[in-house]
Amino acid sequence: MSAELRGYLKRQIIDHGPLDVGAFMAIALGHPRYGYYMGRDPLGRGGDFTTAPEISQMFGELIGVWCADTWAKLGSPERFLLVECGPGRGTLMADAMRATKKVPGFHAAARLALVEISPALREAQANRLSLYQPDWLAQVNDIGPDGPVLLVANEFLDALPVRQFVKTARGWGERRVGLNGGGFAFGLGPAPSGLTGLLPEAARDAEEGSVFEVSPARSHFARDVARRLAKSGGAALFIDYGYERRAAGDTLQAVYRHDHCGVLDHIGDADLSAHVDFEALAEAASKEGVLVAGPVSQGDFLQSLGIKVRAQALAENASERQKGDIASALQRLTGKDAMGGLFRAMAIYAGDPLHLSGF
Ligand code: SAH
Repeated sequence: MSAELRGYLKRQIIDHGPLDVGAFMAIALGHPRYGYYMGRDPLGRGGDFTTAPEISQMFGELIGVWCADTWAKLGSPERFLLVECGPGRGTLMADAMRATKKVPGFHAAARLALVEISPALREAQANRLSLYQPDWLAQVNDIGPDGPVLLVANEFLDALPVRQFVKTARGWGERRVGLNGGGFAFGLGPAPSGLTGLLPEAARDAEEGSVFEVSPARSHFARDVARRLAKSGGAALFIDYGYERRAAGDTLQAVYRHDHCGVLDHIGDADLSAHVDFEALAEAASKEGVLVAGPVSQGDFLQSLGIKVRAQALAENASERQKGDIASALQRLTGKDAMGGLFRAMAIYAGDPLHLSGF
């Protein structure tokens, strides 16, 4: 598959010139036949990376509690659409649903929809979540117009493409992927004419060599979700690694079998992602008239939802070995030097100001 993908990319570059990093990322991950996400399950020990819901059931359970609590704060609507973007193996949602089984009226009101591009992962989700009869959507814009929405997305935004702009002695250039001696290589092309409108203010006095990342794909996603919430109510929760304030930095990374590798080393076989600019996300959403909660660190978010109490309850009936696993999962999910510090949670919602749990 990756040989076909490389062949496709080469032809694109020969026919149309070097690709900006965003276009490259979109093809490498999402080409309908050869993209990284298409034919495989990238998660877990046998894959390339591990995510919070795959580390511990506590993560999905607490997201479920957050959803049920937010639903109540929104007035317990009789019908709503529960949407997950990029559900992976369906683990988060399975844990969330199990944890909310006893919340009166919540399951009866929810209709589950999953936004997923990967046929392989859709199959995994179908197996895991058959009890809840989900619908699958290709993108958030396919969400129907009626009723409130509760949307969750964990490690989804980092997979959406970013473009990279580099400050040179002669102004801004755009990083691109071209060909060099038969292989792929990074180069620099001219920046688009409307670039200054895309770059944050912080980029104005950037030093030579600075890289700024901009993700039109994420801003469009945030805008689309916010519009949908503004129209018929609801809330969305985003959890991902990223930064609260825009700053210079090249955060594009490739991960292959649980190790970092060069972005061009294993095209089509390595996961590509970039840190999420939560400031840009909040800005794109606010423009549509929704309110923003956070971002806060994942550690603070989970602590405030009661992860310690949940860990203690799980440990009560656990073997010594399981107790060790629970403690180490708790540390990974909440530790400042682990995911707890690197990841952030942010919510957007429609209507009057609310105190959403976790923020
Ligand atoms: N949320 C899961 C999986 C994270 S991996 C977890 O935490 O374990 C990223 C997920 O997003 C995968 O399910 C991948 O197939 C999906 N995905 C990536 N890009 C997408 C896109 N453009 N549209 C829809 N789904 C996408």
